[in-house]
Amino acid sequence: MRAVCPGTFDPATSGHIDIIERASRIFNEVIVAVSHSPRKKPLFDVETRIDFLRSATSRFSNVSVDSFDGLLVDFCNKNEAKIIIKGLRAISDFENEFMMAQMNSRLEKGIETIFMMASPEYSYLSSSVVKEISGYGGTVTGLVPASVEEKLSGK
Ligand code: ADP
Repeated sequence: MRAVCPGTFDPATSGHIDIIERASRIFNEVIVAVSHSPRKKPLFDVETRIDFLRSATSRFSNVSVDSFDGLLVDFCNKNEAKIIIKGLRAISDFENEFMMAQMNSRLEKGIETIFMMASPEYSYLSSSVVKEISGYGGTVTGLVPASVEEKLSGK
């Protein structure tokens, strides 16, 4: 089975990589799908976000990284994937994720969204928290992959 792991990944965090790694142990193939998300005004352009994910996931032989602009279900259809994997951190993630899962299932009947619980050590971790900490000069070691840490310290 082929699964799609979508997000903005601005930038990828250790929490994202943890979900991708766990998904790669369950599914034959995992495609990380980076959403362009222009409305979110990302700090990193889509190519940079892809590069971060490629270097952080190169050790997983069944994981690939691509980008999409438009509906996630269209990306899934194009790649013949019927599973969407999402990470859930807290109850606060639930409502929005529940709505998106139901909408995606309405748009494309055969697509199933599967949720994985965040690992406890990353359940407080988000891309925005990482940007905020590093913006004020704090250390993000361990919270992000090495390539992201290098780039953030230069921003
Ligand atoms: P977006 O908010 O644009 O959907 P993100 O890049 O913030 O995208 O997150 C992508 C996915 O990864 C979401 O399903 C989110 O719940 C999940 N996620 C984000 N941070 C973590 C984390 N620390 N642990 C587990 N899952 C996470």
